Amino acid sequence: MKLQSSRAARLSTAVLPLLLSACAGLHSEAAESIPLVVSTWPFGKIANDIAIADLIEGRPRLDAVEAGIREIERQSCDGSVGLGGRPNAAGYAQLDACIMDGPGARAGSVAAVEGIVHPITAARRVMENTKHVMLTGEGARWFALSQGLESVPVEDLEAKKRAWRDNGNGAEGKREGHDTIALLVLDGDRHVAGGCSTSGAGGKLPGRVGDSPILGSGLYVDEAVGAAGATGRGENVMRHCGTFLIVELMRSGLHPRAACEEAIHRIASKDPLGYRLDICFIAIDKQGRFGAAASNQRFPFAVTTAGRSEIRYVEPVRQR
Ligand code: ASP
Repeated sequence: MKLQSSRAARLSTAVLPLLLSACAGLHSEAAESIPLVVSTWPFGKIANDIAIADLIEGRPRLDAVEAGIREIERQSCDGSVGLGGRPNAAGYAQLDACIMDGPGARAGSVAAVEGIVHPITAARRVMENTKHVMLTGEGARWFALSQGLESVPVEDLEAKKRAWRDNGNGAEGKREGHDTIALLVLDGDRHVAGGCSTSGAGGKLPGRVGDSPILGSGLYVDEAVGAAGATGRGENVMRHCGTFLIVELMRSGLHPRAACEEAIHRIASKDPLGYRLDICFIAIDKQGRFGAAASNQRFPFAVTTAGRSEIRYVEPVRQR
């Protein structure tokens, strides 16, 4: 009896804390309550809070995705989304966005569009009002204008380009950097959807399209499995169909976090850059579990449910 109780004491001092921390770890990996919204970067929390309010009020998930991302575009958060985002090598912003719904695998996308205030709305209109999935450049702008979407007049765009050239803002440093709002939702009926929007890589060549508007690269949603979104150096995501890969890894049974990590390991294993990829992923699954991973930086992402909205961090993946 005495032996047992001293064993019990040893167990409680040595093993219980481990068990408890394991449980805490499991808890952080466990399913969240739904609806659930997960997005990239600390500014994603602004979008999440808008999206979750919509979902709680019973608005359609695509409205929630669009409304959240529109706010980031409006604020040009981080100087890397929307018209106030990073200009290209010629001094003006060309924007990329896409949206995808789980049911029916419907999707719409715009790439390298100029002077449109809300590319995410243009992407949704492509999905809902055309028989196409993706429009680019001038055609995307023409379509957005034909839909009555908010825009900057061509003259203002030209003036902006001139001002950029004239006042010497062309220094490389000002053009560098990039970020994306990628936002994933699981609604109260366990349907998934997502969207993303960015001004892309600062200083990019005019016409450059990144991963964000490309389905399976910057965003992928699969009603049977879940959804994944990307941010970072688009070239290192789009050569590997990053978010499609993550969704497939989840389909094979991996937890969203493990799927994001595995995708980075796979890409690093075949890419000459190794882990110096500058890419980050987020993912959610149909059970309401979520996760994120980053190749070579500490990555903050935003997680929001009805009761809680917070910024979480993942450390860079441990290199294999
Ligand atoms: N993925 C975006 C692009 O390459 C930028 C970013 O998310 O940092 O266009």
